[in-house]
Amino acid sequence: MRALIKHHAGPELQFVSDRARPTPGPRDVLIRVRKAGICGTDRHIWEWDDWAAGRIPVGIVTGHEFVGTIEAVGSAVSKYAPGLRVSAEGHITEWKDYNSRTGNAHIASDTRIIGIDRDGCFADFVCVPEENVWPVHVSIPDTIAAVMDPLGNAVHTVMAAGVSAKSVLVTGTGIIGLMAVTVAKAAGAGRIFATDVDPKRRALAKKLGAVEVFDPRESGWIQQVRKACRGEGADVLIEMSGASPALDQGFEALRNGGVAALLGLFKKPALFDWNKHVIFKGCTVLGVNGRKMFETWYQMEELLLSGRLELDEIVTHEFPIEQFKKAHETMISGEGIKVVMTL
Ligand SMILES: [Zn+2]
Repeated sequence: MRALIKHHAGPELQFVSDRARPTPGPRDVLIRVRKAGICGTDRHIWEWDDWAAGRIPVGIVTGHEFVGTIEAVGSAVSKYAPGLRVSAEGHITEWKDYNSRTGNAHIASDTRIIGIDRDGCFADFVCVPEENVWPVHVSIPDTIAAVMDPLGNAVHTVMAAGVSAKSVLVTGTGIIGLMAVTVAKAAGAGRIFATDVDPKRRALAKKLGAVEVFDPRESGWIQQVRKACRGEGADVLIEMSGASPALDQGFEALRNGGVAALLGLFKKPALFDWNKHVIFKGCTVLGVNGRKMFETWYQMEELLLSGRLELDEIVTHEFPIEQFKKAHETMISGEGIKVVMTL
């Protein structure tokens, strides 16, 4: 089969056309991939930064966001049959640890992620356990189904924070930040404020529902947000940038007793004034990882079927997998937002 593999301990990926097709175990499902999204994580793997070098096994097939159809099922699979259109939760657990057994499998201690710890979906076929399969509703198009993984990150963050009738500040409107804006709007948020250094993304955030957008490098915006929110600050902070200054600014703009949900990953440990921003403020800080299995997926499906999510302008480019280089460069340069590869 065709596949994109991390062929050596260094930058870029290699396209091969003779990778062996994975063989499903008794409880696995073999899926023929149709479309696959390029994630910020794939950028780290492409660029081979410290995180990637410490985590990614050389030789692996990368990619974890996809939609496809079931090609074959293992002998013990009971729920699904070949031909079904599916996506999948990419976090795989043995369902043995405390969190897996108490409704929090997204933070299981034994989590292995497709395209990161084991073979992923930048290939004609990917294999996942039956439990991870998500049948895609007939009304959800392939291009959107291919990005349910990052959309699920946005839905999880917004739903964890609780935004209904609340003022919301989204710091960082990259792929998931933009998704969070449209999800927050669909979930009944009050006014949404957003920050980003990129004017194109700020403009899109506004189009998707932000009432005001700011360049975080310009002074005065924090006071503007606080002033707009009774002089006290926003009810909810959704931190998507992973930039250390954004963390500080975001909490500065959050009201006392507010809720902060953090999803953006910091390149290195961030310095932060806990006294001022958390303790005296009495705010609630939520770390958000992955998608709840499978509560987030049901919520995401319902939001998609409501027709209230605006995602068409977030998925900006599609390339055949043979043009993987151009696809990755389009994403990395910032020219594209969400880039999808077709197989
Ligand atoms: Zn991802």
